[in-house]
Amino acid sequence: MNNSEKCFQQAKLSIPGGVNSPVRSFSSVKRNPLFIDSAKGAYVFDIDGNEYIDYVGSWGPMILGHNHPKIQEAVINATNKGLSFGAPTKPEITMAELIKKHISSIDKVRMVNSGTEATMSAIRLARGYTGKSKIIKFEGCYHGHVDSLLVKAGSGALTFGKPSSAGIPDDTTKDTLVCQFNDIKSVEQAIKNNENEIAALIIEPVAGNMNCILPKDNFLKKIRELCNLNKIILIFDEVMTGFRVNYKSAQGYYDVQPDLTCLGKIIGGGLPAAAFGGKSEIMDMLAPNGPVYQAGTLSGNPIAMAAGTACLQTLMNEKNFKDLDHKSKSLTSGLLTVANDYKVPFKTSQIGGMFGLFFTNQESISTFKDVNQCNQEHFLKFFNEMLDQGIYLAPSSFEAGFISLAHTQDLIEQTINASETAFKEIAKVI
Ligand SMILES: *Cc1c(COP(=O)(O)O)cnc(C)c1O
Repeated sequence: MNNSEKCFQQAKLSIPGGVNSPVRSFSSVKRNPLFIDSAKGAYVFDIDGNEYIDYVGSWGPMILGHNHPKIQEAVINATNKGLSFGAPTKPEITMAELIKKHISSIDKVRMVNSGTEATMSAIRLARGYTGKSKIIKFEGCYHGHVDSLLVKAGSGALTFGKPSSAGIPDDTTKDTLVCQFNDIKSVEQAIKNNENEIAALIIEPVAGNMNCILPKDNFLKKIRELCNLNKIILIFDEVMTGFRVNYKSAQGYYDVQPDLTCLGKIIGGGLPAAAFGGKSEIMDMLAPNGPVYQAGTLSGNPIAMAAGTACLQTLMNEKNFKDLDHKSKSLTSGLLTVANDYKVPFKTSQIGGMFGLFFTNQESISTFKDVNQCNQEHFLKFFNEMLDQGIYLAPSSFEAGFISLAHTQDLIEQTINASETAFKEIAKVI
């Protein structure tokens, strides 16, 4: 790993921490990051010539596998026409219609460049539409690096949140209430304490930024009811789960219609594109129709629209989602079997093309607190042993894993076999 090592030292001299997004630094797995040279299908290749079976998938977009020929071709064709015009184009209509076709809660959709922009704009829109200020979010859910959403629970979960980053004034988060995922009582209480003041509730319908936590006991349906009763705009942040967990995204899978939906990752096919959309009545509050301002120089960029459209058109059939679900099930159940063989306390979760690995013997893992109680040392050993055998997992125990259509059963078997060594090593320190 000499070349990666050298590049990391060089990068640190001109890029903060050597990376353009912190999780890439590998700091939570206590080693230096690999610099990637190229990727194809289920593999990434580093600049030292090593190959890895990749379960990060660029953090979600690569659901068809890396550098899929259909996307590559669409991008090349689009570049022949020019890169950006700052004026309306046909590919934007194609993309909007594709999204609407598959997500029935969306009548109108606005394109942006990142998930962060999508959630930030959806929050502003909900506030503009309702004329109220407060918002509810959930501990452990991540919605990008928006000031008002970078909060952690205060002293009690029912007080307003505290900024979780330096540089955010307390005043910015004083309107953000932090509730517990899968705990409907915490939501009821927050609403009761702030009657008629809550504009929006934002949630990842499947939490994918605190490992992978599924909603349970009709949690999402109950939230929908509470939002209806209290005229709160329900925002599903499906930046990760959109076209990932199911053919109809998480809202279709759980049969709950949000008022607004945020999308990203997969809809850009690997290029920067994201979106927020919902009911016409709400979306028409946006400029130029309405008083809520929102804009973007490169929004709806034709190259990004070409990549995203090719990705969705190739991906969207139910067989592909059965396939993804089957593959992630076979991976998680295979790993579980090996963990049990070595008596390593271990649990998994999975839905569609995403999965979670938990080093714990807790009966159920349904909140951020539960995830925090997992064994960090075991995860560290697992991650490092797997990487040394050519399996590239997310370098943090708070991230979900991703499967692509390019992950063959053979590669999944290889991964499960590699885990033998990893679980054996962990068993030695139990
Ligand atoms: C990745 C992610 C975001 C942020 O998207 P960026 O494109 O990184 O700004 C927001 N919400 C969720 C649920 C995400 O997974």
